[in-house]
Amino acid sequence: MTFLQKLLFLLITTILFSCKKDVPIVIEDNTTKTEHVIIIVMDGARYSETWGDNSHQYIPKLASYIKPKGISCDNFYNNGFTWTSPGHLAMVSGQYYNLNNGGNELPPFPTIFQYFNKTFPNKKSWLITSKDKLEVLTNTSDTIYFNQFLANTDCGINGLGTGYREDSITFHNAINILSNNNPNLALINFKQPDAIGHTNDWAGYLNQISIVDDYIYQLFNLIETHPFYKDKTTVFITNDHGRHDNNNGGFQNHGDSCEGCRHLMFFAYGPDFYENTVISTRYELIDIPTTIASLLKFNLPNSKGVVMKDLYKPVH
Ligand SMILES: [Zn+2]
Ligand SMILES: [Zn+2]
Repeated sequence: MTFLQKLLFLLITTILFSCKKDVPIVIEDNTTKTEHVIIIVMDGARYSETWGDNSHQYIPKLASYIKPKGISCDNFYNNGFTWTSPGHLAMVSGQYYNLNNGGNELPPFPTIFQYFNKTFPNKKSWLITSKDKLEVLTNTSDTIYFNQFLANTDCGINGLGTGYREDSITFHNAINILSNNNPNLALINFKQPDAIGHTNDWAGYLNQISIVDDYIYQLFNLIETHPFYKDKTTVFITNDHGRHDNNNGGFQNHGDSCEGCRHLMFFAYGPDFYENTVISTRYELIDIPTTIASLLKFNLPNSKGVVMKDLYKPVH
């Protein structure tokens, strides 16, 4: 090769490698203001009944009170497995993996909870969920991380294997834990839209979306006003999966790759993000943990997601 050819080769390889998506993300951004992150999941609500419905009749509080305070994305997807456990795993690990959906398998890799706790041993992370099976998200079968750096959990009736509980209990516990334990990182899961959807009760499913809308509103109020959280907390509101659209079996079930199962609601709020803005950038579930790692400044190895740069206000 001539010198010029060598130079060209070097240039092309450098560009190719810098575009590679799965390099570990090392965060050197010290300009962000976020100190705490809360993810709130409305389990199994379909986009067509949330942001995709222009009347927003089932999410009145999200639409009128919360939406102007942050940024929504109308092009946000679960591009992996549209079941509860794999959906939540994608959202806290940056990887799509078909995790057993019954709570019988630990993720083969750590999630943001373990990486966060390892990086910040004096900070607190919490998993607060109506579904007990989600407790597996705080641990891993990876031999180095197994039983290490565990998050605090408040899952199901009394932890893994004890069954689901009502969202009203999860809401009550979440308010108490945020107020008194001050988690720096937390995920809160409300199961009821999914649970009632599975019973094929259309009116009940819609009603549960509105009930969770109110729970989110009250949690949001706490985060906006509590001295520990005010002005330094980022909130993500999303779904683990949608439900079949009407061309693919309808709202009762979910689990395939149809538009209804994949298209999710996405809203984010925080001191680093735009307000009163809607974007259409194509983002996906695995981008949430990657963005969280960037905001909270810890390393998230093997994430396939990207930092959602279009959410960020310019830094002055
Ligand atoms: Zn689910
Ligand atoms: Zn489907």
